[in-house]
Amino acid sequence: MEATRVTRFNIGALSPRLRLELSRASFISFDCEFTGLGDSAATRAQDLRVRYAALRTTATTRGLVSFGVAAFQQGKDDSADDSAAALDFCVTSMGNVVFEPAAAAFLSDHNFDFNKHWKDAVPFKPGNDSSDHSLPGTPNQLIRDLFVYILSLNVPIVIHNGLLDLMFIYQSFYAELPEELDTFVADLADMFPAGLVDTKFVADYVTRERASFLGYLFRKYERKMLKSYHPYLSLSPAIQVNPSVPASILLPNGQISATLSFKLLTKLPDTLKSKKTTKRTKQAEKDEKRLYCVQYASHGYCPNGPACHKSHDLDTILDAEELEAQLNQRKKSKSLTDGSIDPVTVPTTTSNTASATASTELTPIPIQSQTPLPPITPSLFETYHSACFDAYMTGYVFSVQQRMHPSESISEFVKAHGNKLYLMGKDVPLHIVKSSFSRTSLEHRRKKKVWSVNGSSGTVSGIAK
Ligand SMILES: [Zn+2]
Repeated sequence: MEATRVTRFNIGALSPRLRLELSRASFISFDCEFTGLGDSAATRAQDLRVRYAALRTTATTRGLVSFGVAAFQQGKDDSADDSAAALDFCVTSMGNVVFEPAAAAFLSDHNFDFNKHWKDAVPFKPGNDSSDHSLPGTPNQLIRDLFVYILSLNVPIVIHNGLLDLMFIYQSFYAELPEELDTFVADLADMFPAGLVDTKFVADYVTRERASFLGYLFRKYERKMLKSYHPYLSLSPAIQVNPSVPASILLPNGQISATLSFKLLTKLPDTLKSKKTTKRTKQAEKDEKRLYCVQYASHGYCPNGPACHKSHDLDTILDAEELEAQLNQRKKSKSLTDGSIDPVTVPTTTSNTASATASTELTPIPIQSQTPLPPITPSLFETYHSACFDAYMTGYVFSVQQRMHPSESISEFVKAHGNKLYLMGKDVPLHIVKSSFSRTSLEHRRKKKVWSVNGSSGTVSGIAK
């Protein structure tokens, strides 16, 4: 896979080509990397207004470093493959931002090239349009124009656990984040009339997956598509312009691997502290017998990191899950036919562990796949990292989720399951709907008036500040 790396040096030459690529999209996925997550207690507050205020503080004091965009084009019919173009915007705020040590360490651990970043990054001025930073043709204006161009396309936007990503994008390339959550929600509903889809919400509440972190879903679906269907996604080559764009941002050998999201790695999710994983010693014993790390398999996060003695390899985890599902199926049909459960020979870690009684205490052994899976370098699972690849994985996951509902077109699927943003530690999503009680923000209304006519924010004359 190759992605187009967008820098301050090539954004001017690339812009028309990027618009062409974006204009063909059936849907577009986003992901971001930023310089910090802010106060973790406040950004997880149960009261949504308190939470929004804390997230707003994060998005206005920390900065975006990477904006990943993947434009997915659906094949004309069932036999035609989908295609995707991946764009990696390397960006830096012109304002002062807090760089949290944990975020810096995380990026460094994942081979983020800081020198290259500061040399290449497109400088942007966050907040509202203003006369001093709307000079046409400057990298800042080009990237703001591109964002508004995406809005004018009126296609569904796909994110994964993306409320904070949307807030960063809004603050960085669109306008000052509204003070009130209701205003922000009203703006989003008006900015994305074709709908916003959060693939984490869909995985948890619609397709009901065992785990819903991005790398897990991506690898699971990639295996599923290879086994049951065909590799249906082709990737557009990176766009070359003069000066040529280095296409070196993904895996060195062009292989596809999975990654962990920044958010999951740097903070311990609240869900880890739930009774689910701390209660029931019996369950803990069962988990201990597994070769893979149960904590990691459920949340994409393990406090032991690379030092964990259990496997974090997604293929090992998915192989084990498939094996468990098969055995459960066999058990079920057995007990249905003769009312008894026969012993199932189950491989275990210790040879003297009794497996005479049919047991779900499985120790996974990798199943021989019928179809060769795309090659993977296991170590890269946890070292590889980029917003662009996360955006690509998010779009891929959405594409498979939508294919699981073949009776629904993309727009029907979005209508049924979209506009519900996943909220950490909450059982209900954030609904992105227009409400009769809350108005959109003044700045959004002013901007929309311009871009709905021009298809671009252009240079707005007569700006107040
Ligand atoms: Zn672990």
